[in-house]
Amino acid sequence: MAVDATQPYDDQNIFAKILRGEIPSTPVYDDEWAYAFPDISPWAPTHILVIPKGPYVSWDDFSARASDAEIAGFVRAVGHVARAAGLVEPGYRLIANAGPHSHQEVPHLHVHILAGRALGPMLVQHDGA
Ligand code: 5GP
Repeated sequence: MAVDATQPYDDQNIFAKILRGEIPSTPVYDDEWAYAFPDISPWAPTHILVIPKGPYVSWDDFSARASDAEIAGFVRAVGHVARAAGLVEPGYRLIANAGPHSHQEVPHLHVHILAGRALGPMLVQHDGA
């Protein structure tokens, strides 16, 4: 179910539990600012999630409240994960869903790194969109 990204941070969300080690995940990258792990239901041959260590509901919340150091650390971590996975030359797509229209499901900011094949147009086309 899509979440309301204007709600306060809920520390019982799935990714908070993954950060605390209460739900297992396979580490792809881990530093002071960010943690990366494979998506459990991949939409592409490579589908990695990168999440900030801090408690931020969405990109909106993060960009408004996070410190410059957290923002720099997180953005650099996303780039590092993509480079380390060899995705720069073939290319990759970043998605950060925020709120109901985006279909955000987990209320802890996450950037999807999607790659491994030609991904096609940005969105499925709908009439009138
Ligand atoms: P959203 O729709 O919020 O942008 O994306 C949430 C993503 O989290 C989905 O792609 C979903 O497959 C992934 N996900 C949900 N629960 C888990 C989990 O327990 N482990 C992992 N690795 N991914 C999860």
